[in-house]
Amino acid sequence: MTVSKDVSLKSFNTFGIDAKAKLYCNITSVEVLNEVLQEQQSNPLFILGGGSNMLLTKDIDALVLHINLMGIEVVSETEQTVIVKAMAGENWHQFVLWCLQHNFGGIENLSLIPGNIGTAPIQNIGAYGVELKDVFYSCEAINVNDKSLRTFTKEDCNFDYRESVFKQELKGEYIITSVNLQLTKNNHKLNTGYGAIKTELEASNIKTPTIQDISKAVIAIRQTKLPDPKEIGNSGSFFKNPIISVEQFNKLQENFPEVPSYKISDKEVKVPAGWLIETAGFKGKRFKDYGVHQKQALVLVNYGNASGKEIFELAQLIQKTVKRLFNITIETEVNII
Ligand SMILES: Cc1cc2nc3c(=O)[nH]c(=O)nc-3n(C[C@H](O)[C@H](O)[C@H](O)COP(=O)(O)OP(=O)(O)OC[C@H]3O[C@@H](n4cnc5c(N)ncnc54)[C@H](O)[C@@H]3O)c2cc1C
Repeated sequence: MTVSKDVSLKSFNTFGIDAKAKLYCNITSVEVLNEVLQEQQSNPLFILGGGSNMLLTKDIDALVLHINLMGIEVVSETEQTVIVKAMAGENWHQFVLWCLQHNFGGIENLSLIPGNIGTAPIQNIGAYGVELKDVFYSCEAINVNDKSLRTFTKEDCNFDYRESVFKQELKGEYIITSVNLQLTKNNHKLNTGYGAIKTELEASNIKTPTIQDISKAVIAIRQTKLPDPKEIGNSGSFFKNPIISVEQFNKLQENFPEVPSYKISDKEVKVPAGWLIETAGFKGKRFKDYGVHQKQALVLVNYGNASGKEIFELAQLIQKTVKRLFNITIETEVNII
């Protein structure tokens, strides 16, 4: 076990922010993790996965535990389904590809989402009509205070839109070490109705798609829509899509008849945050070395050497402007550190 001092986190976060960790340890086994937790009890902890859902606004005055636990295995199976266990440090997209190679279905719509599998339950990752909760079976996590190991079932996790118990009541209390997903082996439930998937499949003349076809379609769509963090620093959607009451939506529609919406229930409507930000005039705006992406108003970007503080101030300006213009509060999806 090696604990290093003053380590730059620039290459460990997709925004490419040059913040430093006061102390840093690469966690490659559960034994090392337990050892660190025993030996470093006096230091506050900060858990780092793939660094694709955080904006570092300052140096981390803590021991950064970089979770790189690896391994994938089938733990049980029936004729129709399989439970696959993946260690927390496995890259999410590589895991999706592994499942597709084995013809295990259920997460093909979540192709190309950055980050690690151990972090996927934290915000219940979702895209193109599928959320992690749809396939989640359980996860194992270590309590940072008493070091006990606990298994969380789907019910324990309180999953919601980009939410879970790990972002709420138990925030900072558990380190997820592995995740079990229940996937299909045959009769896959295909989700082609969302977004541009249908159009993409039609363009390739695919009439009866496989899970592999859906994954390829999702990858193609995402590559045209979202900036690659390797080319331009970003953390994907910076804000969540706000959910408002039907009454509030009706008032909004009086002033902005073209406002798009998705019905959530008879009482609630989801409004795309990207539309609000674009209508507020921020799409494509650049300030010094940071700004709002040219094609995607929901994505804030670091053009090179921006600080996390600058990007956070831009996020706050966007929130205030959206509130003033539309009377809607938009919350950040990205963790502000
Ligand atoms: C280009 C791009 C596109 C994206 N598209 C999507 C999308 O379509 N849908 C979507 O849902 N998300 C999307 N995201 C967001 C991101 O990929 C996910 O939230 C992902 O799950 C984050 O994983 P990570 O390992 O990088 O987390 P990190 O950024 O490393 O960590 C996020 C939070 O989880 C905590 N944490 C990390 N690992 C653990 C652990 N093992 N145990 C406990 N706590 C931990 C951290 O302390 C932090 O608070 C996108 C991001 C980018 C850059």
